[in-house]
Amino acid sequence: MKFVSKDTQKKDFVTTEKRRKFAQKKKEKMVTAKLYLKPKKEESLKRFHPWVFSGAIQKISGTPAEGDLIEIFDYNGNYCAIGHYQIGSIAVRILSFEEKEINTSFWKEKISNAYQLRLSLGLLREDNNSFRLIHGEGDGLPGLIVDIYGDTAVMQAHSVGMHTIRMEIAEAIINVFHGKIKNVFYKSESTLPYKANIAVEDGYLIGECSGDCIAKENGLLFHVDWLKGQKTGFFIDQRENRTLLEKYSKNRNVLNMFCYTGGFSFYAMRGEALRVDSVDSSSKAIELTNRNVELNFPNDTRHKAYATDAFKFLDDIKKDEYDLIILDPPAFAKHRDVLRNALQGYKKLNAKAFEKIKKGGIVFTFSCSQAVNKEQFRLAVFSAAAMSGRNVRILHQLEQPADHPINIYHPEGEYLKGLVLYVE
Ligand code: SAH
Repeated sequence: MKFVSKDTQKKDFVTTEKRRKFAQKKKEKMVTAKLYLKPKKEESLKRFHPWVFSGAIQKISGTPAEGDLIEIFDYNGNYCAIGHYQIGSIAVRILSFEEKEINTSFWKEKISNAYQLRLSLGLLREDNNSFRLIHGEGDGLPGLIVDIYGDTAVMQAHSVGMHTIRMEIAEAIINVFHGKIKNVFYKSESTLPYKANIAVEDGYLIGECSGDCIAKENGLLFHVDWLKGQKTGFFIDQRENRTLLEKYSKNRNVLNMFCYTGGFSFYAMRGEALRVDSVDSSSKAIELTNRNVELNFPNDTRHKAYATDAFKFLDDIKKDEYDLIILDPPAFAKHRDVLRNALQGYKKLNAKAFEKIKKGGIVFTFSCSQAVNKEQFRLAVFSAAAMSGRNVRILHQLEQPADHPINIYHPEGEYLKGLVLYVE
C-alpha cells in the first residue's frame, strides 16, 4: 500500500475542497449585464482594441459587480464583444469579439494556444524551464500574467475578473501541461485594483513546492522566490538580452546595476568576464544573488555583490574601473503624469555611467516603464551622452522577448526597451 503522509492527505483535502467550492460558484455564473456604447464609440472595438473606457459608456442594463462578464453593444444595439467588467477608467477588458460563451473550454483553449506558442519558440528544453506563459493582452487574456518556473506556475491577476476565475485558469494550466506542472501559486495581493477591496492572500491554489525552488534559464540555475520576491519572483523578460550580454563579457570588468537576483551577472561570468560586481538596494535581492552565484559558480572569486543605492555607487567608483555596465532600473514612470521626472531619472543615471566607463566600454541600458516610449528613452540617453561629451554609438536596440508578445491592436503592451552602446 502506498504511504500517504498526514500532511499530504490534508493538502489533498484542501485542494479538493477549494476546487469543489469554485465549481459550485462557476455553475451560478451567467452573463446578465449589457453595456451600450455612445454613438461611434465602437470604432476602437472594430479595430480589436481590448479595452472599453468608462467615457464611452451610454448605459448599462443590469447591475454588474466588478469582475462579472458583460456583453457590449454599439449605440444601435449591434453586438461588439464580451469581457470582464471593472470599476475605473478601463471599464471592460475584452475577452472575445465574437459572440461566444466564456466557459471552461474557452479558458482551456486560450491557455493551450499560449502553451503551443511557447513550445514553438523552443522555450521548453532540458536546459530551460522558465518562461512567460500568459502575457495579458498579448495572449488574449487581459489582466492575467502567468510565469513558469520548472514544475510551478506563478499566476498574477490584475483584474477582479481574472481573480474570480483563478481556479479555472489553474486547472487549465495543469491540464494543458500534461503533468509537467505540479504546483500553481497565486500571487495577486499587490496587483489587484486596491479599490476593489478584495481580501486576497498569496498562496498555492494547487500543490506546493517544498524545499528550494530552482529554475533553469539557458543552462543557468536560479533560486526563485515567488513567495516574497518581486513580480512573480524573477525577471524572465531579460532572457534574450542576457544572452547577448554573455557575448560581450569576455575579458571585461562588469558592473551589473539594479541586479535583483543577479540574472545578468551569471551570464557575464559564463562569458568569461574578469570581474563582476552586482549592485541592488534590496539586501534580500543581494542575498539571493550571492546564493545564485554559489549555485552556478561555487567558490568563484570573480563576483562581489553590494546592497546599496545605484546612484551613490556610481558616484563613488573610480573612472575607468569598469568596461561593461548594465543599467536595468525599476520602472521610473508608473504613470504618464510622472513622465518628466522619469526621463530626468534615466538621463541622470546614464550620464553617470558614461562619465565613469572606460574608453571602448559597453553600456547595456534599459527602461521597463510602459509610459516611456522608445523615442523618449532614446532621447533621454542621447541627452546623457551629450552631457558626458563622449562619442557614443548604438550597437543594438533591444526589446521584450517573444514570450512577452505584443498584441498588434494593443500597442500599450510594449514596455521593455534597451540600447547597447559603445562608448569611446
Ligand atoms: N536586472 C534585474 C531586474 C531589475 S529590477 C534582472 O535581470 O533580474 C529593478 C531592481 O532595482 C530591483 O531589484 C530593485 O530592488 C532595484 N532598485 C530599485 N531602486 C534602486 C536603487 N536606487 N539603487 C539600487 N537598486 C535599486
